[in-house]
Amino acid sequence: MRIDVVSIFPEYLAALDLSLIGKARQDGLLDLRVHDLRDFTTDRHRTVDDTPYGGGAGMVMKPEPWAQALASVGGEEGAGDGSGDGGRPVLIVPSPAGAVFTQAMAYELAEEKHLVFACGRYEGIDERVLEWAGERFDVRPVSLGDYVLNGGEVAVLAMVEAVGRLVPGVVGNPESLVEESHSDGLLEYPVYTKPSSWREREVPEILLSGNHGKIAQWRRGQQLQRTAARRPDLLEKIDAGTLSKADKAELAALGYEVAGDRILPRR
Ligand code: SAM
Repeated sequence: MRIDVVSIFPEYLAALDLSLIGKARQDGLLDLRVHDLRDFTTDRHRTVDDTPYGGGAGMVMKPEPWAQALASVGGEEGAGDGSGDGGRPVLIVPSPAGAVFTQAMAYELAEEKHLVFACGRYEGIDERVLEWAGERFDVRPVSLGDYVLNGGEVAVLAMVEAVGRLVPGVVGNPESLVEESHSDGLLEYPVYTKPSSWREREVPEILLSGNHGKIAQWRRGQQLQRTAARRPDLLEKIDAGTLSKADKAELAALGYEVAGDRILPRR
C-alpha cells in the first residue's frame, strides 16, 4: 500500500518510523512518504495561511499550496493512482467535522492501494480544495472523535496505525487481529499473564483449567459484560441474529432483551 501524508510539521510523523509500522516500511509492505506543504509554496516566506473571508478568528490554509502538493502525490492524472487500474486514490482530510473513524472504516481503507492524508492546521483548509480534489481523489473528511485537536497529524498517526496493521503481513500473527475489540462489534475480554497470583490478586480460575470450550464461553460472557458496562451503544448495533442461546442468557442477566434483530435495555 502507498500512503502519502502532507503536513506543515513533517517531523510530527517521525513516529511512523517506529515499531510495526516502521518495520512494515522497511520491509516494503507500506510505501509511506511524508511531504512538507511549505515545499509547494512559491513566496519567500513559504506562506500557507491567510485571513478568513467573512471575518472571524484564526487563519485558513491557502488553496494553491494544497493543490500543488496533492497534484504531486498522485491526483493530477484524474483517474490514475499509478496502479494502472484507474482506481482513484483516497484523500483523507482529518477534520472534527468529518465522519467518525471506526474499525470498520479501517478495514475498508486497508483494501485501498493508495491513501493520501492532508493534515489541516489553524481553522482548516479552504473548502474549495476539497471540491477541486473531488475530481481526482475519492475525498473523505474523517474525524478521530468528537473533540478538537490543533492539527490533523495526531489523527493521521492514529489512522495510519489502525489501517496499516490490517495490511497483510504487517502484524506477524494475523490471529491476533481476529479476537480484538471492535472486530465482532464487542469489546475484547480481559487478558492476563504470569504470575497467576500477583499482589494477592488471582487470575480467573477458568483460564488455568485448560478447558478451551469453557474458556471461550467465559471470554464471550466477559465481552458482553464489558460492552454493556462501558459501551452500551455498541450492543444496540449488534445483529441479534448472530447471538447464541448462552449470549442471550448473559444479556438477560445484564438487563437486556432481544426484540427482533435488536438488543435493547429491558424496560
Ligand atoms: N475550525 C475547525 C472546526 O471547528 O471544525 C477546527 C480546526 S482544528 C483547530 C485544526 C485541524 O486539526 C483541522 O483542520 C483538522 O485537520 C485537525 N483536527 C482537529 N480536530 C480533529 C479531529 N477530531 N479529528 C481529525 N482531525 C482533527
